[in-house]
Amino acid sequence: MTNEQVPAIRHSRTFSERAPAPRMSRPHAHRDSHRPLCIMKFGGTSVGDASCIRRVAEIIHNSIRDFEVVVVASAMSGVTNKLIDAAVQAELGKPEQAAEILEAIRDQHEHAIDVLIYAKGEQDRIRWKIHSLLSECAVWCEETARKHELTPRTRDLISSLGERLSVPLVAAALDRYGLIGEPIESTELVVTDSCHGGADPKMELTTERCEYRLRPLLRKGVIPVVTGFIGATEGGVLTTLGRGGSDYSATIVGKALKADEVVIWTDVDGVLTADPRLVPGATTIPEISYREASELAYFGAKVLHPKTLRPVMEDGIPVWVRNTFVPGKRGTKITPVGNANRGGVKALTAIGEAALITIDAIAIFEAKDGIARILTAMKLIRTDVLMITKSSSRRAILLVVPAQTTKATLEALRQEFAHEFSGAAERMTADGNISLLTVVGENLRAVKDTVANALEQLNRDDVNVLASGQGASACNVSFVVPKQDQQKALAITHGEFGSGEDLDLPGNRAWDAPRTRPGLHVDVDSGNGRAHRAPNFASAAKVLDAETFRSMIAQERRRTERSRNPVLLMLLDVGDSLSRDKTGKLLDKILSALSFSTRDTDITGWYRDQAVIGVMFTEIGIDDSGVILGTMMHRVSETLRSSISLDNFSQINVSMNVFPESWKQDTSGNRTLYPDLENREQAQRRALAMKRILDVVASAAAVVFLAPLFLLVAMLVRLSSKGPILFKQERIGQFGRPFTFLKFRSMYANNDPKIHQEFMRRAISGDVKKGSKMENDPRITPIGRFIRKTSLDELPQFFSVLKGDMSLVGPRPPLAYECQEYDIWHRRRVLEVKPGITGLWQVTGRSRLRFDEMVRLDLQYVRTWSLWNDIKIVLKTPFAVVRGGDAF
Ligand code: ADP
Ligand code: ASP
Ligand code: MG
Repeated sequence: MTNEQVPAIRHSRTFSERAPAPRMSRPHAHRDSHRPLCIMKFGGTSVGDASCIRRVAEIIHNSIRDFEVVVVASAMSGVTNKLIDAAVQAELGKPEQAAEILEAIRDQHEHAIDVLIYAKGEQDRIRWKIHSLLSECAVWCEETARKHELTPRTRDLISSLGERLSVPLVAAALDRYGLIGEPIESTELVVTDSCHGGADPKMELTTERCEYRLRPLLRKGVIPVVTGFIGATEGGVLTTLGRGGSDYSATIVGKALKADEVVIWTDVDGVLTADPRLVPGATTIPEISYREASELAYFGAKVLHPKTLRPVMEDGIPVWVRNTFVPGKRGTKITPVGNANRGGVKALTAIGEAALITIDAIAIFEAKDGIARILTAMKLIRTDVLMITKSSSRRAILLVVPAQTTKATLEALRQEFAHEFSGAAERMTADGNISLLTVVGENLRAVKDTVANALEQLNRDDVNVLASGQGASACNVSFVVPKQDQQKALAITHGEFGSGEDLDLPGNRAWDAPRTRPGLHVDVDSGNGRAHRAPNFASAAKVLDAETFRSMIAQERRRTERSRNPVLLMLLDVGDSLSRDKTGKLLDKILSALSFSTRDTDITGWYRDQAVIGVMFTEIGIDDSGVILGTMMHRVSETLRSSISLDNFSQINVSMNVFPESWKQDTSGNRTLYPDLENREQAQRRALAMKRILDVVASAAAVVFLAPLFLLVAMLVRLSSKGPILFKQERIGQFGRPFTFLKFRSMYANNDPKIHQEFMRRAISGDVKKGSKMENDPRITPIGRFIRKTSLDELPQFFSVLKGDMSLVGPRPPLAYECQEYDIWHRRRVLEVKPGITGLWQVTGRSRLRFDEMVRLDLQYVRTWSLWNDIKIVLKTPFAVVRGGDAF
């Protein structure tokens, strides 16, 4: 039995009541206990001034009894912006302006030193540190001004200064609580790639360094105070993780040190249903899934950096978001599955800095790979596609990208589609005056309903919704409104969230008495009181075994036949990389990455044991399935690429399969979605082999013994009317694979196929009974009528049987245009078995069957198939032929 636990922040006494511990007592008394490890990240506002930093020190002090703590600190609020401004001024050749900004930053820090630190010697030491850092920065600014050039490397150097300035202050502030803090620059810890302004960590090296540098401090009872936001390449060049990146730093360190939890301390009560600055009625979400939180961040919720949860997802480390200024509140717990038993939560975000790009070209709209090409072009310029959708009414593709990338996006698309655009007028427009609103939630149905209601209401209120679409992760729906309507759209959409019964958990109210530690599960039965980590989220146990998974695919297909909601089967072919994986962690890493694109309702299993992992996404939008396919592929490969080694990544092959397949698509012969049929074939291997032997022997015998008849009919056809002897037609065989179907020609050459086409359309939809009209078909020649009546026209099909396209017994093979009219369940008749010359419905004696009845008989034939049944049908066939009619 496990016991949900909650954060332990004791704040019963006020700051003034606390006496600093005597210096003699250090290192403090907690160091020997086996306390769980908590990474505490404090954001810009949390370290905004001296009084805020004092709160931070108090929070740390209150936690230290229960936890080992590593602190990750941001720059004081506003400082990073000011530094970037200084860099820009320098680039513009205005070193004086830059110097002025640096001076203001110095004042801000000096003031905090005066208030926070009492010991004169300590004050001087930190003052000197700050002075030397700012002098260093002044040199970079002067250099930039001289060259009129701001390289990404220098930009990172300058913008990273805020964290380097703040950590000495935070570490020193701990002194008043008898704690020892050690400021550490994360260039020593976080090893990254060289992507300036958006670097990603190299986890193995980072883990080594964190262990080497931080673990000994923790053992000594010292609290490391680490700079957020910053890393360095292996060669020691400083990098930054992107704006707001300290959240990411915290989880990187958390992962490296195998922390028990990470707490993001900020200036709001947790993750809210919307940005409280924009939606005053927003409420705190008690628990949210990694994926929901990541999507929120990706779509603009500033409370978390979008990559924050990536490092922790593999180990399922919980991440809390809590309010530095109201530490008594429980905050939000971000967990692998979130509030799963309550059907997920809903939250709303807006991105005002975005552009809507309309690609108005039929060729691109209709191209099968149009979306894929756009996504690849965007990937090359490292641009996030926030939304992409096809507008059927405008026959255009609409995509939303971050505003600052508009120019680069247009340029990249122009290059990609140079051929399609050539000679035509400008076919792309960009509208930067928009806002992208996104509703996120694991319960996609609830999300869709909310958006649908909101769109209706917006329409009534004359707000023009410019585009809408489901996101790639299948847990969000976005829509675009003119920027001036953002506020209204937010209010209306949030108003659709209902009473928020999902949110009514005790933790949503002010927290009173802490009971146990946050984020840990205590194994009560073991009785030893030792805390156990939450079960590994990405545990391979969550993957269904191949047999179950394959039968689930069949079940989902049936469900789709009824509901018409497509299912998407994503397959990750990992080849033999799992068996070659020495760390034994590759599978968990892959599953963690997948978890970012899957919901709890999606089904993950082995498609082929230890070689192909499958994920079935249900409930994907009917209209959007093509778009989702492309974007999902993009997202999955992006997440995989950042979580596993390049070597492993290159071994993995991702493919997407949608059921029902479009007959227009070339999915012919693709059996991926029918693994259950493979199973059945396996089970009936012997009988099927016998069927094939029977087919070959009987057809060969028929061809040999009926050779004179073949010749006679051939001559009659040839002599009676102009045209070829054989009539060849493309028909659909098993698994939708087309093949050439042969008959003796019974119609005049070059007749109009529309007559039959229209007839079949009506027959399938149930308008007419089969056979009721075709008898008087004017296209049939007199000899044709005879050979049709006697079924002699069917004789050449023995060749198709010999070739393996057909069997003696099976459903009649349809034409491609018939298949397009098929309802989803009708398709099974051609998918599940080989088509045949004769079949159950031909020998039932009921020649005038409705199409549905005919399909039911075909399916009955499939279900009850046995060799003996086939033999019975073959034996009955001559009688059916003698009886005549148009059964064939
Ligand atoms: P920090 O400096 O602590 O990193 P940030 O300013 O980066 O804090 O992020 C916190 C801010 O995020 C909040 O003040 C809030 O206005 C904004 N925000 C946007 N969306 C949300 C949301 N869904 N929940 C909570 N806060 C949000
Ligand atoms: N100081 C950095 C920024 O303002 C990083 C952070 O605060 O997370 O972007
Ligand atoms: Mg932030």
